[in-house]
Amino acid sequence: MHDLIIIGGGPAGLSAAIYASRARLDTILLEQNFVNGGQIVDTYEVDNYPGLPGISGMELAQKMQDHAEKLGVETVNATVEGLDLTGPVKKVLTDEGTFEARTVIIASGATHRKLGAEGEERLAGRGVSYCATCDGAFYRGKDVLVMGGGNVAIEDAIFLARGCSKVYVVHRRDELRAEKVLQEALFELPNVEMVWNSTLTSVNGDPKVESATVTRKTDGETRTIPVSGVFIAVGITPRSEFARNQIAMDEGGYIIADETGATSVPGVFAAGDVRDKQLRQVVTAVADGANAVTSAQRYLTENR
Ligand code: NAP
Repeated sequence: MHDLIIIGGGPAGLSAAIYASRARLDTILLEQNFVNGGQIVDTYEVDNYPGLPGISGMELAQKMQDHAEKLGVETVNATVEGLDLTGPVKKVLTDEGTFEARTVIIASGATHRKLGAEGEERLAGRGVSYCATCDGAFYRGKDVLVMGGGNVAIEDAIFLARGCSKVYVVHRRDELRAEKVLQEALFELPNVEMVWNSTLTSVNGDPKVESATVTRKTDGETRTIPVSGVFIAVGITPRSEFARNQIAMDEGGYIIADETGATSVPGVFAAGDVRDKQLRQVVTAVADGANAVTSAQRYLTENR
């Protein structure tokens, strides 16, 4: 049995692993992907992590991974399927068997949200993508469309505009949610066209994307735009399914925990994007990881 199991190897989980290792807790980190790093692995550039301006998401993830490895953190490649938190020994059920510990930090992060447009599911992987960094290179010299107005959508649009002929950015309002610095960079690009007050209603083509239909909210007018790729970036949804009915969550599935990471179950803590919180950034995720370990240490001392 371990002192601590960390679920998730993104910035929150890796930060927790670093702090746990330095606290000499017997820890294992469970990660379902072959590469640690979480969502930042798919991020072309992270420009707001203090001290590392303009670093690529992959490089930042690798640096965090190297740091954790240097401290001897053990990562097990396993997908968490359920939890049994009823006793003082917490059980984490995975496709690689059951792991036990006296404390658990859930840092399982979030994944992209689906839009629900007609044709979106059918054409996923055939022109519909949720990751511009992963798939953008396939659309060099072609026209593409990005749906969304948050940081991810605008970062994606800027990235795609470097190689694509034209990028349409479709947003449901007349003002972007993304940081102002990203907006300024976007509006300077000559090959970007904004489609305001509109939503992507269908993606068309067979067997690949040939066009996208957008509907303007103000008057219901539809427009079909010939594009080869459709990138959907309409927010994230927490990866908390495996903890359902075990831990208190809000209606969106985010685990309810304050800054200490304490959840409704003693000895179980939440960190990073899976936690109900104001700001989901790398910098807040790593802070959460550190706080959660401090709370776990305190719990272990008080419950020997
Ligand atoms: P987000 O900030 O929640 O933005 C989602 C965007 O999609 C919003 O513009 C929203 O419109 C739109 N949207 C949501 N549902 C929609 C629907 N049903 N139909 C049409 N449009 C819809 O999400 P995100 O950009 O994916 O970012 C996810 C999180 O990661 C955020 O917390 C973000 O701050 C964070 N992030 C951090 C970094 C970093 O640390 N460097 C980088 C990128 C992202 P409205 O604006 O009208 O609501």
